[in-house]
Amino acid sequence: MSNFSTTHADAAHRRLTVLVAAYNEASSLPLLHPLIRAALDDVHAAHGIETRVLYVDDGSHDATWSILQSFREQDPQVSVLRLSRNFGKEIALTAGLDQIEQGGVVILDADGQDPPALISSLVPYWLQGYDDVYGTRTNRDGELWFKRITAKWFYRVIGHLSDTPIPADTGDFRLLSERAVQALGQLRERNRFMKGLFGWVGYNRISVPYSRAPRNAGKTKFNFRGLWNLALDGITSFSLAPLRLATYTGVVAALFAFAGMAFVMIRAALYGDPVAGWPSMMAVILFIGGVQLLALGVIGEYLGRMYNESKQRPLYLVDQQLPDRSGH
Ligand code: UDP
Ligand code: MG
Repeated sequence: MSNFSTTHADAAHRRLTVLVAAYNEASSLPLLHPLIRAALDDVHAAHGIETRVLYVDDGSHDATWSILQSFREQDPQVSVLRLSRNFGKEIALTAGLDQIEQGGVVILDADGQDPPALISSLVPYWLQGYDDVYGTRTNRDGELWFKRITAKWFYRVIGHLSDTPIPADTGDFRLLSERAVQALGQLRERNRFMKGLFGWVGYNRISVPYSRAPRNAGKTKFNFRGLWNLALDGITSFSLAPLRLATYTGVVAALFAFAGMAFVMIRAALYGDPVAGWPSMMAVILFIGGVQLLALGVIGEYLGRMYNESKQRPLYLVDQQLPDRSGH
């Protein structure tokens, strides 16, 4: 805190942008925007920081885009971006981050689950020099027990498998410094697991606990399949452990096979070789076949992602882009 006053003096030249990715959030956005506005006015009043809001419409099919445009007409600090189709949250956030040229960024869900009022408690850490001030969920109100349990296990598993630190119970809600945003911009991989990419960047990180509110309106955009795919993307992007597991399973199976072979040979030498054991043979063949297909599947998961990467397609296409009207 000792150099707080000097950084505070620089704050007048700083900018903070709130980045919101929205997919079919027409019912939530009108509730959210006034809260963001109020939070940013507080931040401006307390620290003299220039504030902005950037909304990314991730190819919504409802009134989201026209609502965002009306925000922009009413509020000169709002800029909006529309992607050519639905690319998914991770890409939509990337598209937004790519627009940020200056200052820090707060990433916020469009449904009010990450309370905008918390922004003002993240800002002081940023002003102290932290690069990644991330919100850690202390509870998840209004989410189904199944989502809570699978999410909890997912964070435990990836925490063990990944070499990159990925804090548990931490979503995308965070404040990133300018250099962290620029670092993220250099990571152009197609399978974007943002929680891992934030961890990869490193720098000075600090966790701020918060309680995750229920959705203010509408319903979740992630079904079981979406979450499963996100989990697979996360694990394959940040760990080679599944490949190694295939190797070790093979080693263990081979050891058992050698022991079994020795047993069969010795028994045949001592007691002769009566035909026996069809059921056990079938069991072993099916088991080995299953393990082999599983290992192939694991390799395939990595290979498929390499194939996607090798196509070198752009990450997203922009349909429309309207800058803020503040003249900067
Ligand atoms: N989202 C997005 N593109 C998608 C799916 C979701 O931009 O394809 C946004 C969504 O509008 C919201 C955020 O990602 O702002 C989180 O989505 P949601 O609340 O549905 O996820 P949950 O909180 O249930 O995990
Ligand atoms: Mg949500």
